[in-house]
Amino acid sequence: MNEKETNKIRRIAVVGGGIGGLTFAIAMRHHGIDVDIYEQAEELREVGAAVALSANATRFYYNHWGLGEAFDEAAFEISSLIYRDGKTGHEIGRHAGGQAYRDLFGGPYLGIHRAELQRILSTKVGMERIHLNKRLVNIDDTGEQAVLHFKDGSKAEADIVIGADGVRSTVRNLMLGYEDYIYAGYTAFRGIVPIDKLPNMPDPTAIQFWMGESGHCLHYPIGGDRKGDINFFLVERTPTTWPLKQSTAPTDDGDQLRLFKDWHPALVEMIASNTLKTVNQRWGMVYRMTLGRWSKGRVTLLGDAAHSLVPHHGRSRMPWSLLTALPLRVPRRLQKPLNVTSDCVVVGRARLCMRR
Ligand SMILES: Cc1cc2nc3c(=O)[nH]c(=O)nc-3n(C[C@H](O)[C@H](O)[C@H](O)COP(=O)(O)OP(=O)(O)OC[C@H]3O[C@@H](n4cnc5c(N)ncnc54)[C@H](O)[C@@H]3O)c2cc1C
Repeated sequence: MNEKETNKIRRIAVVGGGIGGLTFAIAMRHHGIDVDIYEQAEELREVGAAVALSANATRFYYNHWGLGEAFDEAAFEISSLIYRDGKTGHEIGRHAGGQAYRDLFGGPYLGIHRAELQRILSTKVGMERIHLNKRLVNIDDTGEQAVLHFKDGSKAEADIVIGADGVRSTVRNLMLGYEDYIYAGYTAFRGIVPIDKLPNMPDPTAIQFWMGESGHCLHYPIGGDRKGDINFFLVERTPTTWPLKQSTAPTDDGDQLRLFKDWHPALVEMIASNTLKTVNQRWGMVYRMTLGRWSKGRVTLLGDAAHSLVPHHGRSRMPWSLLTALPLRVPRRLQKPLNVTSDCVVVGRARLCMRR
């Protein structure tokens, strides 16, 4: 890219106001660059229940972007990470959480409701930069600038387009020319249960992984108004096929327990408590194949659109979602127009760089 071209990079458009898009906007703001987010939803609302954030994400929120206080209020700091036999409850492994975890990894391990996470991130971005009701249907990248076309007939121009539109990404489909998400062969139930409904739960302040033949379950406490209540994610290897266009499908009451009836009493209590409507929905787990490159022309992918993994091992996809967003810095040759410092990852026709 020559100097003339770099000077033109003024506008960055992000498609999707999810965790990745919002976090990317905060990362760019940190370097003095405003971006516009185009989100298809009428309002920013959470998908599903809660999310567990490991230090790969929280150390940026706490140490770089001044969001520690907001997270302290809204999240629950996990006391330990425990692996158990699903039926007997026998402890297989344990790692320290709390201060010991912070000392080791540079940030806390948190459980937080997705609505709270979105509130914190969107407040930091500023709602004036988030354009709702903008469902992207096409991108024309043949002219001087990329032109984004939305379902409502409106358009926006940008020098760089970031596709942060999730696992069923339209930007990725446009880039590849076909849809490539794949059903993983797993489905999941998720919900939030008041802690007082779980008298048999050992270590209720830990994130726990229960494993067995029929599937597995992970759960952790959340903060905010529901402090100490437990968010759970129950995964089973069924059915063998899934209607790919759908994220969720209704299920019969009691279906959730079918494969887990003889599991530990704490798990049975949790699954059977059925206190939220979402527990009656079955989520189909999909993923995307790895691509050789995430960028084409002025367009690049971020988060699940770039590299979605199935979430059921609780390995926190957050770092993966944010890998392209969190550590970006802008190269020297863009310093002048964008007033930032740096060194490289290709984003569209620009090169933005990973902090080491
Ligand atoms: C059941 C489940 C449990 C999970 N649990 C965890 C966990 O505990 N910890 C963790 O770190 N991760 C977890 N994940 C993964 C995590 O949710 C994702 O990795 C993360 O949300 C990806 O962020 P993203 O911004 O790429 O996509 P998303 O958060 O999915 O956001 C995409 C956004 O793009 C918008 N959009 C889509 N299409 C368009 C369009 N055409 N035009 C405009 N906007 C559009 C959507 O409305 C959405 O707001 C879980 C995922 C699932 C499915």
